Amino acid sequence: MKRFTCGDVIPGCDAAFTAADEDGIFAQAVPHGATAHGIDEVTPELAAAVRAHIHTV
Ligand SMILES: [Zn+2]
Repeated sequence: MKRFTCGDVIPGCDAAFTAADEDGIFAQAVPHGATAHGIDEVTPELAAAVRAHIHTV
């Protein structure tokens, strides 16, 4: 399983996501970013930052 904690990229956010793979993490984190943080475009830099903080659990 993979795990991503939003606060690793956006300080102060305590949302966390788990999924079978990175695609599953992004499938949850992208809508969360849009609704919780007003991120309407996931730039390559943001995707890389998220990917850097996805941990295997
Ligand atoms: Zn968040």
